[in-house]
Amino acid sequence: MVITRKLNYDAPRLRMGGGDIELSREIKILGLTLDDRLTFNQHVDNVCRKVQGLYGQLSRAARVQWGLSPGVVRTIYTAVVEPVIMYAASAWSPATRKKAVRRRLEAVQRGFVQKIVKAYRTVSLNSSLLLAGLLPLDLRVQEAAALYEIKRGVSRRVVGDREIEKRTSWRDMAHPADGTELEFVCLEDGAMPSENGVNIFTDGSKLEGKVGAALSVWHGDAETKTRKLKLENYCTVFQAELLALNEAVGCARSSSECCHNILSDSRSALQMVINPSANHPLAVQVRNNIKEIREQGKRIKLYWIRAHIGTVGNERADELAKEAALKTKRKADYDKCPVSFVKRQIRKDSLDEWNRRYTEGTTASTTKIFFPNAIEAYKIVRKIEMEATIVQVFTGHGGFSKYLHRFKCKEDPSCSCESGTEQDVLHLIVDCPIYNRQRHDVEHEINTK
Ligand SMILES: [Zn+2]
Repeated sequence: MVITRKLNYDAPRLRMGGGDIELSREIKILGLTLDDRLTFNQHVDNVCRKVQGLYGQLSRAARVQWGLSPGVVRTIYTAVVEPVIMYAASAWSPATRKKAVRRRLEAVQRGFVQKIVKAYRTVSLNSSLLLAGLLPLDLRVQEAAALYEIKRGVSRRVVGDREIEKRTSWRDMAHPADGTELEFVCLEDGAMPSENGVNIFTDGSKLEGKVGAALSVWHGDAETKTRKLKLENYCTVFQAELLALNEAVGCARSSSECCHNILSDSRSALQMVINPSANHPLAVQVRNNIKEIREQGKRIKLYWIRAHIGTVGNERADELAKEAALKTKRKADYDKCPVSFVKRQIRKDSLDEWNRRYTEGTTASTTKIFFPNAIEAYKIVRKIEMEATIVQVFTGHGGFSKYLHRFKCKEDPSCSCESGTEQDVLHLIVDCPIYNRQRHDVEHEINTK
């Protein structure tokens, strides 16, 4: 295969073992179809065909009134269809900006989404996507590509000058064979460590969007030292807990005392620290420090304590962490941006684009009466149980005279209350005199007029 943009080029002639090797227009490597102009049209075609075969089987088993439930179809869609389409997204995502590719993806997605919300086949993609609470496929492909690039540290599009918290590479971690065995002890009901030594309590806190971490060092019954740490506002409590643990272990390393007990109320942070294959940079640092402390011949033990049961040291660390979060004005001690934050940013961009398409699109006029904004709708639609009837109301595609007339199933689009008045969703809900009584009852029930 020759990859070039030139229209005229001399095709190379390759010979091997006396035979000519033919040039091909496309090749498939690891499931990704490459064509000689890198348009990826053929790749999109292949994955869409694959998924359409699946749709054929699914549509025989999921009907509006019976068959597979929408929940099952949704699971199949998110667990099978999306991953098949999004495979190798980072390689071919630029192709999704082409209209033809977008149309192709939309055609594939529409069928599945209609099944998920049990809507009529005439319902538009915009409408059914909104009711299903799903994003257009081309945006999902772009999301996957953006996240991949950011994790690799190639793109800084979303995060500006912030540095992403990168996972430690396997090369920089201890070999599993010579990693020190680590464990933590769970202390129930306010018990204290059975072994003597310096007790260091750690805690992390996120309040009013601000993040802090702290430690409180105790010799016997007296607090001898405290330390407050500030994290950037986009950091998570989990990062704060790990940072506090790291600081505590650092304290123990530089201390002249020989025995230390580190106490934390975050089980997940402790679990990550003792897991030798967890590659979170802070957890790796804690493990390395613990190893060094033990090599110095000192003893260090990790403990989990239950939070908010009145353990003095823990309460103190909690209080200090809150102070660190709210009152510290200096530059943050830790500012690595968590991947979860980046994910949220990428999702926000996609939702903005989706909302633009939805509000500017010419379809879904009835759905827009109920859900004028796609971003707001995205937060709530999945909490609504979508039944066939309610979907008919939300989409306007159902047993309404106007709809039946439009698709030539009924001669007259008017309502039975008055000839000449079109029967659509809005008429039935707001105006139609036939339902005055029911309307009155509902208004009474929900207390509005
Ligand atoms: Zn009427």
